[in-house]
Amino acid sequence: MRSCHLCAEAGYPITPRAIFSGLATARIMVVGQAPGGREVELGLPFSGPAGKRLFSWLAQAGFEEEEFRREQYITAITKCYPGKGTSRGDRIPTAAERKLCLPFLARELELVQPELIIPVGGVAIRHFLGNIKLDEAIGQAYEKDGRSIVPLPHPSGANIWLNRPRSKLLLQEALLLLKKRGQATFP
Ligand code: SF4
Repeated sequence: MRSCHLCAEAGYPITPRAIFSGLATARIMVVGQAPGGREVELGLPFSGPAGKRLFSWLAQAGFEEEEFRREQYITAITKCYPGKGTSRGDRIPTAAERKLCLPFLARELELVQPELIIPVGGVAIRHFLGNIKLDEAIGQAYEKDGRSIVPLPHPSGANIWLNRPRSKLLLQEALLLLKKRGQATFP
């Protein structure tokens, strides 16, 4: 992944540097959409403002950031920073870029064999659960291919879905599910 330039060679305005972290022994895999600019600077996934918010959510579910980063695996649907979008926030990787990058995710899943997957944001959620609305996915737990999947919304400040009172309730339900799964799987 670290030497991959496929998207740049195909003409997409990415910054070719794959951002991911974690151990092959991880039991949880967090899968985001794509890294942001701050993540490229630090070489660490979810290290910008969205990451701060994600780890504050995970803390509510009983996972402490330092330990989580040390022991679990964090990656994304596409591994390189896609650049700024036309409106607020970063550009969403196109279907073609996702297709180029997804073999890496498949290999990560094969190698790590996580027991629990946390897809973060609509792009990652739809990859694992198909064409599902955020309102239906958040606050639910799924079993697929012998793994638990507990989706979370994208923690970016540009995600207006988070502003609705109903969304806050769904998020709390998702965090409660994660807490229960975490306690059951990692006592
Ligand atoms: S996003 Fe994935 S496929 Fe595209 S250049 Fe980066 S590692 Fe390669």
